[in-house]
Amino acid sequence: MNKLYVFGHSNPDTDSIASSIVFANLQRALGYDATAYKLGETNKETKYALKSFKVEEPQTLSSVDETCDVAMVDNNEFSQSVSGIEKAHIKMVVDHHKIKFETVEPIFYITEPVGCTSTILYKLYRQNDIQIDSQISGLMLSAIISDTLLFKSPTCTDQDKQIAQKLASIAGVDIDSYGKDMLKAGTDISDFTPFQVINIDSKEFSDKNARFEISQVNAVDLDSVFSRQSELEEAINKEIQEKNLDFYMFAATDILNANSKIIAMGNKAKTVEKAFGISLSNNTAMLNNVVSRKKQMLPNILNNLD
Ligand code: MG
Ligand code: MG
Ligand code: MG
Repeated sequence: MNKLYVFGHSNPDTDSIASSIVFANLQRALGYDATAYKLGETNKETKYALKSFKVEEPQTLSSVDETCDVAMVDNNEFSQSVSGIEKAHIKMVVDHHKIKFETVEPIFYITEPVGCTSTILYKLYRQNDIQIDSQISGLMLSAIISDTLLFKSPTCTDQDKQIAQKLASIAGVDIDSYGKDMLKAGTDISDFTPFQVINIDSKEFSDKNARFEISQVNAVDLDSVFSRQSELEEAINKEIQEKNLDFYMFAATDILNANSKIIAMGNKAKTVEKAFGISLSNNTAMLNNVVSRKKQMLPNILNNLD
């Protein structure tokens, strides 16, 4: 049997790492030779989650080729995946993002408009009657808390909340206190270079002749993030030039108050102004009640590309 490589997106977040481990575990229980990988360094929030449930980090995968069977979780866009992905045999996709995908053969593709890939995986475990132990449930719970910002994000559904409750009781943790600690662990950027800050959770998109990137960091203190504005702008400018981007939007999301403050730069930064009905001042603006890239930032931008 061919080995199955399971991985999420580059600049991995907690859902990408947790869902890779959880889905590989499910596939092994179903008889496949499946291994989870990460596409890049895990962030501090994810490290906190892995440590809390005593789970080891997956190995890093740098490329795949035509000999590889692959399962993509938590994304379906080649621009956010591993090098060589277009040549690999994509056997499975489990995701909760907009679909940008074409296949040459039938594949196992599950997507649901829920807040987290792990919410879908929980149901797959139940459907297949595979037991969920406390480590696996702790990872899935962490992923749901991360993706829904402790249920504050508009991406969060009733299913995410209900399944999180079940997972918390298996994992034996209090959702609120564990969740706040985990999210806070991810907000410490003091020892990061500006380049690292903007690449903690950054995704590139291309649509309607526009190439752009939306980068997001969680914060408990927006002022401390913006005390570094000028060096962040320098790093953003460099990315714009090197990747030939039309614009770049960096969002620092206040996880306690559920707002985001952005920096937007590039030739087509006006798109961002149009998208949110704001005027940039010194490249920045406050986006009230905006926390979700997937459901708020990206759709608004896609609807306002020229
Ligand atoms: Mg993700
Ligand atoms: Mg996700
Ligand atoms: Mg995310």
